[in-house]
Amino acid sequence: MPKRLFVFFLLVAAVLIPVLSAQEKAGKAPSHAKCAHCQKDKFVSAQAKNGAGKLVPLCYECAMLPQCEYCQLPSDTVSGGGDHLCRECAKDCIKEKTEAEKVMKDVRQVLIAKFKMTTKHKIIYELGTRRELNLEADGEHNELGWFDPKTIRNKPQYTIRILTGLPRDVFRAVGAHELAHDWMSEELPHLMDKPEIREGFAEFVAWSFSKAEGNKRMMEYTEGRTDEVYGGGFRKVRTMMGDAKTAAEWKNVLLKEFPLKGKKSGK
Ligand SMILES: [Zn+2]
Ligand SMILES: [Zn+2]
Ligand SMILES: [Zn+2]
Repeated sequence: MPKRLFVFFLLVAAVLIPVLSAQEKAGKAPSHAKCAHCQKDKFVSAQAKNGAGKLVPLCYECAMLPQCEYCQLPSDTVSGGGDHLCRECAKDCIKEKTEAEKVMKDVRQVLIAKFKMTTKHKIIYELGTRRELNLEADGEHNELGWFDPKTIRNKPQYTIRILTGLPRDVFRAVGAHELAHDWMSEELPHLMDKPEIREGFAEFVAWSFSKAEGNKRMMEYTEGRTDEVYGGGFRKVRTMMGDAKTAAEWKNVLLKEFPLKGKKSGK
């Protein structure tokens, strides 16, 4: 390298290095970092929230990939339920019936421990595809779970079906929502045909459950729902509940708001 050019570079460096380090001191996000998806040191093009709600850097190419259904990370797998999943969410997703049964048993225990909410019902747990779940519902919502009470030969039968391949924490919150339907069908059957209260209450239970588990993403998911029945219902029920903390207290609030008419309770 000619001597003069070398001196020139030295001068440029002398001017630039203090400027760059001053920028770093000012707390600016680094323009280069290890991309959370491809793990390469690259120019940061976007920041994305992972399942735990933490912002992580993404390079341009990875930011362009299809996004995980349950967080903002890029997806490279499709679950059995047909959802795009990122590696983190796919890692512990629930896709086997025996695992689903085990987790649901645990969710039921947490609902008893935290809210004294339970029924004596023997519940059958199944996993279903999105198509199967939507066929049972109105087809308008993207159902993640389904509570299905039936009477077979005069005997009640309870089934809870949940979308296959859900990340574990999402599955748990959906499970709590469906168990809230089971509880309401037993304790307040007259509210089961009020969609806003039925779904609003189930969302409220799922939200309270997620809060107890420190599951921020599912709390935010419920809080962010904009549709009238689920989102509107949730906000209505949450306001209604005030300081009530247990299933018995929730029942009192709902009975005050929606008294049983006459003596017929439907059961
Ligand atoms: Zn990348
Ligand atoms: Zn994800
Ligand atoms: Zn529901």
